[in-house]
Amino acid sequence: MIISYQYRLKPNYEQRCRLNSWLEKLRCQYNYLLADRFDWWENNRNYVNSCPLVCSIAEPREQPEYYKQKRSLVQLKQERPWYKDIHAHVLQDMVKRVDLAFSRYIKGDKNGKRSGKPRFKGKNRYRTIGFPSIKPDCVNNNHITFPKLGNIKFIQHRPLPDGLTIKRALITQKADGLYVTLTLEDKSVPSLTVDIQPTEENSLGIDSGLEFFVACSDLTAVKLPKFYRQSEDKLAKLQSKRDRRKLGSKARRKLNQKVAKLHQKIARQRKQWHYEIANQLLDKADVLFVEDLKVSNMSRRNQPKQGENGTFLPNGQSAKSGLNKSFADAGISGFLSEILPGKAEKAGKKVVKVNPKGTSQHCAICLNRVPKELSDRWHSCACGASMSRDINSAILIKKVGLGVRLTIKRKSSDNKKRRSQRSVA
Ligand SMILES: [Zn+2]
Repeated sequence: MIISYQYRLKPNYEQRCRLNSWLEKLRCQYNYLLADRFDWWENNRNYVNSCPLVCSIAEPREQPEYYKQKRSLVQLKQERPWYKDIHAHVLQDMVKRVDLAFSRYIKGDKNGKRSGKPRFKGKNRYRTIGFPSIKPDCVNNNHITFPKLGNIKFIQHRPLPDGLTIKRALITQKADGLYVTLTLEDKSVPSLTVDIQPTEENSLGIDSGLEFFVACSDLTAVKLPKFYRQSEDKLAKLQSKRDRRKLGSKARRKLNQKVAKLHQKIARQRKQWHYEIANQLLDKADVLFVEDLKVSNMSRRNQPKQGENGTFLPNGQSAKSGLNKSFADAGISGFLSEILPGKAEKAGKKVVKVNPKGTSQHCAICLNRVPKELSDRWHSCACGASMSRDINSAILIKKVGLGVRLTIKRKSSDNKKRRSQRSVA
């Protein structure tokens, strides 16, 4: 089992200066190595259809991959002796980050999902120093011993758990100071694979939507918190005040810091709230069924609609933009994919993803199809069922999780309508 603990660091003036200089040096080298990768990539690819038939081919340069770039660190320290100040493992960790950013852009991660083009890091944009290995006994008496940096004071707001070994450490520069993240490993506890059979009693269906953050199959629901919207006015005021200040001035820098702190506050409010909700949900049941959401699909932009004379007609994007903002504000995807499963694993419980197909279009009581538009927020069926749309979906998600199959049968009247439409067309 691997867990991480984060503490606030309190370095003295000298240590802070040294950390800042490390970050700046690492940033420069990061940009240099990334540029080297791009350079090779641009010079060694060619479109098949634009390759001339007769051309002289120069010997291609060796590809700058991870090990080659790692070996180049030796030369770097000879040419630029000030890099000797940085611990070797920290430099290697930086090379690893270049490798990761670039290979995710070219090849994609283990699921084949490609990330965007890695960007060069501007001033103060390189914020983490990674120690891929650190001595297990580095923590004692409110101080952490880092190689080359020495003892740095930290605020131990909660004790480290016994019986775990410290594997890695990460120093991060945040808006309100420096933090250290310690990664702890417990070899005696293998990653928990809980085998609980879901039944009617011990399981709970959870639907996440726009009206409610989560709606549960036990007829309870939690409203969206909207932390970002609460602070939106304050943020806008601060930002416009900042934009009136001169570029590079001290006043502007201070206002920038205030903006960053406000963003940090919003993120922290949301995170704490997520953990509270996760605990509440896990208290209710042993197996949680959640829908397998694709939020990126949901917040995609609408297709533009064009009229006959070439003018653009309203396509509902402005309403959807408001919706997207609410989605992002709620942070639902992070909650369902990280926080809830993480908490469940610690509690020895299980989160199961369910295909949400049809769960909004059927009745939870009689399982008949009751078509609804996105704007219809109430579910009422001929069988007498009448409840909020989200609660209806939550009950259905539970039923699907327990093995009920929803058949998407079209009513004969629907078919007739389609047929007549087709014949008209
Ligand atoms: Zn019904």
